Amino acid sequence: MRRNETRRNEIISTTDEEVKEEDIIGEEKFEISKDAFKFPVNCCSKKTILANKKLSINAIEFSYSVWQCSKCKKEYLDSEQAKRLEKFWMLEKVMENRSIRMERAMNFDGKTFFFRFPKEISKGWHKGDLVDINLINSENNMFFIEIKHQH
Ligand SMILES: [Zn+2]
Repeated sequence: MRRNETRRNEIISTTDEEVKEEDIIGEEKFEISKDAFKFPVNCCSKKTILANKKLSINAIEFSYSVWQCSKCKKEYLDSEQAKRLEKFWMLEKVMENRSIRMERAMNFDGKTFFFRFPKEISKGWHKGDLVDINLINSENNMFFIEIKHQH
């Protein structure tokens, strides 16, 4: 498994169209059960209460809330908070250079700039899927891109 870890920081080269599937599958994923609970949930036969939490990486603070049991202190995340936390963890991976990275050549057709995604990554994408682009920093041309399926 060492192999996967060392590979994590490599930049997949532009000349190589093929991104090996194990590069993608080898990534860890956070399992958060979405909509598994109705909120507020009961724990220790009592209603959980909303508690504010804070996380920080490199001086970036992130606030979120959890439903906490006042007795056993167990925390439950609702799906909205879970999604926010997942995004934060993703950004953390990017900042710590633990994310899978790719370099692609920028294309220009005379009007529009575009680049191609490797087909190993775009499996299951459909024409008409929504591309959600968050501008992070315009000076550095940094974006957070999310492909959303329209079903
Ligand atoms: Zn409890």
